Amino acid sequence: KQKKIAIYGKGGIGKSTTVANISAAYSQQGKKLMVIGCDPKADTTRTLYGKRIPTVVSTLKDNHKPTLNDLVFTGYNGIKCVESGGPEPGVGCAGRGVIVAMKRLENVGAFNEDLDIIFYDVLGDVVCGGFSVPLREDYADEVFIVSSGEYMSLYAANNISRGIKKLHGNLAGIICNCKNIPNEENIVKLFAEKIGTKVIGTIHRSNLIQQSELDAKTVVEKYPESDEAGEYNDLALKILDNTDYVVPDPLNDEDFEKFFKQFI
Ligand code: ATP
Ligand code: MG
Repeated sequence: KQKKIAIYGKGGIGKSTTVANISAAYSQQGKKLMVIGCDPKADTTRTLYGKRIPTVVSTLKDNHKPTLNDLVFTGYNGIKCVESGGPEPGVGCAGRGVIVAMKRLENVGAFNEDLDIIFYDVLGDVVCGGFSVPLREDYADEVFIVSSGEYMSLYAANNISRGIKKLHGNLAGIICNCKNIPNEENIVKLFAEKIGTKVIGTIHRSNLIQQSELDAKTVVEKYPESDEAGEYNDLALKILDNTDYVVPDPLNDEDFEKFFKQFI
């Protein structure tokens, strides 16, 4: 069965890096994938394609009848890369761009291709309409939240799980992307349990990931024998094996504060 996965998390926490690296790992395991960046920044697929690709929204500005090849770019190991694009910073709604892009992709048959996995790298901000599109429109059917053990990152994860609950989304787990704070993996694990889910895997902080990014490559492609690539490969396998989904049970603000204060 095709897996359709949406990745959420606080701004800058490592969503796009995680999506690109686990996608690269799946491609090495022989899987066929499409990766869709749903963020006006349009930087999800850069390390898979080797540079930035034109976005669907920008292509539509001067080409009103785009074909599949105008919108979908083939990157590392055959991974299909798409960026929805959206409004320029400060104008308009990102959610609108995501909807326009999805409809276009349907029109050109992008979803008819033989794909094992489709990833949506989603704008993390619950307040923005872009947040809800992949879940609300039934493009994605399972969700992972990327979080470190930092207060603000878990605060965002809790907020995001409110959005997921509202949309009756299936939360499959939290990906712990470490920021090297004390007791980090334990804090994220306990938080995950509090909201009724689990940590599906952990990626430790590493400069090699950023070094690869400077070269517009995933660490999985550039350093396939590294521990870092090993962690992304493990995470990819765990996501594939997972069969357990929940509608999350987020904490209210007071309980969230209490939860966090036990660690300081
Ligand atoms: P945004 O919300 O802005 O889209 P994001 O959640 O997609 O951000 P990324 O762009 O993936 O975050 O990551 C932000 C920065 O953190 C990048 O420079 C990335 O290389 C770095 N980064 C992510 N994960 C790790 C890690 N495990 N170790 C070291 N650096 C990391
Ligand atoms: Mg991103």
